[in-house]
Parts: sequence; C-alpha cells; structure tokens
Amino acid sequence: MTDLTRRKFTSLAGASLAAMTTPLFAPAVLGQQKAKPKLVVLGGGPGGGTVARFVNKDAAGAIDVTMIEPIRNFTTCFFSNIYVGGYRSFQSITHNYDKVRKEGVRIVPAWASAIDRDKKQIMVGKQSISYDRLVIAPGIDLKWDSVPGYSEAASQTMPHAWKPGAQTQLLVKRLNALRDGALIVMVAPPNPYRCPPGPYERASMFAHVLKAKGHKKSKIIILDPKTAFSKQAVFTEGWQRHYPGMIEWQDPKVHGGIKGVNPKTNEVMTDLANYKAQLVNVIPAQTAGQIALKAGLADKTGFCPIDPENMRSKMDANIYVVGDACIPGQMPKSAFSANSQAKVAAMMIRGELIGAKTFPARYSNTCWSLIETDDDIKVGGTYEPGGDIIKESSTFVSKPGEPADIRKQNYQESIDWYRSIVSDIFG
Ligand SMILES: Cc1cc2nc3c(=O)[nH]c(=O)nc-3n(C[C@H](O)[C@H](O)[C@H](O)COP(=O)(O)OP(=O)(O)OC[C@H]3O[C@@H](n4cnc5c(N)ncnc54)[C@H](O)[C@@H]3O)c2cc1C
Repeated sequence: MTDLTRRKFTSLAGASLAAMTTPLFAPAVLGQQKAKPKLVVLGGGPGGGTVARFVNKDAAGAIDVTMIEPIRNFTTCFFSNIYVGGYRSFQSITHNYDKVRKEGVRIVPAWASAIDRDKKQIMVGKQSISYDRLVIAPGIDLKWDSVPGYSEAASQTMPHAWKPGAQTQLLVKRLNALRDGALIVMVAPPNPYRCPPGPYERASMFAHVLKAKGHKKSKIIILDPKTAFSKQAVFTEGWQRHYPGMIEWQDPKVHGGIKGVNPKTNEVMTDLANYKAQLVNVIPAQTAGQIALKAGLADKTGFCPIDPENMRSKMDANIYVVGDACIPGQMPKSAFSANSQAKVAAMMIRGELIGAKTFPARYSNTCWSLIETDDDIKVGGTYEPGGDIIKESSTFVSKPGEPADIRKQNYQESIDWYRSIVSDIFG
C-alpha cells in the first residue's frame, strides 16, 4: 500500500465506519419510552476524546454521552517534541473542549476517583455517575521508583515531560538556558511505554536546539535500559549526519546498569560512570493510569488486557479500554493507535447499545519523528485481531539513505495528521 493510500485508508476507515454504522434506529432495540443508554468515557485524550465525539456524532442523540476529564486545556504529548525543537508554540499544541461540549457531549471537569463495577457507577468527588457502558482511556502513570532516587518531587529538578503541560514547559526552559559545553543526560524508559520513538526524537530536538545556538562542545547522553530502540538505524544515521559526536546512546552492555539519580546534585549514576549534568531528563517506567489499576482492570503487566475484536476489557464486559492504558498486542502505544482503537470501540459500543451495524475491527498506526528540519522518519503498520492480541498485518519503516524529498514529505504528512487527529478529538 502506498503512503497516500494508507493515509486515505486511515481517515476513510473512521469516516466510512461512521457512515456505515449510522443507527437504523435505537428505539428498535431499547423501546421508545426507555431512557437513552448511557455511555461514560473517562479521559479526553486521543483515546477517550475520540470515542466520546464519534459515539455522540454517529448515534445522533440516541446515546447519552458523558466524558470525565479534569484538564480544561489539553496539551498534546504528540508534537510536544516539535515544540521542544522550537518548531511549534505551546499554544499550538494546546486545545479545549468547547466544540465537544457544543456538540452535546456532557463534560464533567473533574478527576474520577473510583469505579464500582458491580453497581456500574463511576465516582467523581461525592457524585456517582451510572453507566451502561464505560470507556476508560486514562493514559499512563509513571512508576517513580523505577529509577532509584527519582520521585514526583524530583521531577521539578529533573523533568520527565512524559505527561504534557507544565513538565514540557519546564524542560524547554531548562534546555534554552544551557550554555555551550553543557551535558544533557536522558534516562530512557523500559518497554512497554508511550511513544516508542519519542525519547530519540526528543534527543534529536535537544541537539537541533543546541546546534542552532552554535554549541560546539555540548553533549547528549542517552542511558537506555533497552538493547535496541524504534527506528534505530535511521535515527543513528541522522544523528551522525546532522549532529556528529553530539548524541551518544548507551545500552546496558555499555553503561552496565542505571544505578539511580541524585536530584540534589543533578547526577546520574551507572555502573560505568557518574554523570554530573546540566539537564537530566528522566523518563521512568510506566503503567496504565492509576484508576485502571485500582478498578482491577490491569493484569500483571500493569496495563489492561482487551479483546482485540472490539477493545472490550477482558476483566469486565461493560468496560472498554482504549489508548495507552491497554495492552494492544503488537500495536505501539501512540496517539495514532489510541485514535484508531477508539474508532473501533465507538462502532462496537453503538452496535451494542443501539443495534447499529458493526464491521470487523481493523486498526492502523504511523509514528513520525523529526530528526532535523525537514528530515522526518516514520514507522507504522496496519493491524487486525489475531488470536488473543491485535496483530500486525503490514508494516513499513523509513530506510537509511532515503532522498531528502521523501523525508520532507514525511514531515508534511505528520503536520496533516496532527490537524486531522486534533479535529477528531476536539472537533
Ligand atoms: C514526548 C512524546 C511525544 C509523542 N509523540 C507522538 C507522536 O508523534 N505520535 C503519536 O501518535 N503519539 C505520540 N505520543 C504518544 C501519545 O501522546 C499517547 O500515546 C497518547 O496521548 C495516548 O492517548 P490516551 O488517550 O490513551 O491518553 P492521554 O493522552 O494521556 O489522555 C488521558 C486523559 O485521561 C485523563 N485522566 C486520567 N486519569 C483520570 C481520572 N482518574 N479521571 C478523569 N480523567 C482522567 C487525563 O487527564 C488525560 O487527559 C507522544 C508521547 C510523548 C510523551
């Protein structure tokens, strides 16, 4: 499949599923006099936000849709590296739910504290909200103690910026204050984590900023608990071409183990050496958002197993899990994946609640990463249910030595994708 066809397929998949599943109509299933079925969606990111909007829009008023999301101005993690590199403003990656509200989704701007699965209720402060179906899309939480010495308090000194907003702004402020000769140390996360190429795109954006400011002696060391990473061959080639000698990636064979960090002295300790850095970016290990763990929806991996045919929780037939909080088999954790899973879940929920027609689940993903201006690489694939998991059915990845116009075109594709996904989520 060409890129163009694949992109078309992705956007058409959402559109055509929507068109094909327009209800024929709800009352046939539930009866005229009965109350509308209630869908509650927890989380207003690419996962939850897409489900809420698509069910609301395509059910045409036949389902009562409530979305619980405490953040009024949602800054996207996706494209936050582009902001770090200075290509976008913070404002341009920050969105609100005004249009979603106007379209008829009831938004509860607060944290949900617990889910009572027996009563089919979700608790928000003292209020309990009943549901017929619940979608949870709380994203990730960070395992602070996965890096000894690191903590939520330490993130004020050593930002993670793996959840967006103030943390990303802090990272950028610290990056822009660096003088030539600075050392940046990034502690990369173990699998599975949100956005597999994200740490390496971020290191590229650090280097881009330092190079643009004329730094000659500054250095970036990535300490990785993994032995390989996403798009490694093309990242490594790009780093050599654009930033020779500036980015050093160390796997466990080199550093011998990450022993911990000291936020008071800005030091990172490994078996090989202790690094005193001017900027430390710690990206800890991750789990599904706490509320999913508390509700017993996660397994020993720390993420929520789902039925690949429909995104329904394997722990509870009334609950769907989409986005980073689920274990999607071979699909990576990305906004693109979350959005694709959300479109499948929205279709299946309309099928269940109002008898709308459903089609076999198909998923897709692409992750673009910018290495340097107009040098953008991508990885992705299409996916379908395969036994117990979502399985890859086709894949593609950028190759070393590609012509510059392909890389430039990739960047343009990523900008088009950003525009399209934020419109899916925020209207
Ligand atoms: C640096 C970086 C770069 C990235 N770049 C890309 C990229 O280029 N392309 C891409 O596809 N992906 C990218 N990603 C990954 C992408 O951001 C995530 O995969 C995506 O945001 C997951 O969506 P989600 O809806 O599952 O979770 P989230 O976006 O985290 O949304 C979860 C929402 O749930 C809410 N929530 C959580 N708990 C509760 C609760 N108890 N009550 C109420 N609400 C709650 C939160 O407030 C949040 O708004 C990147 C990530 C990072 C960190």
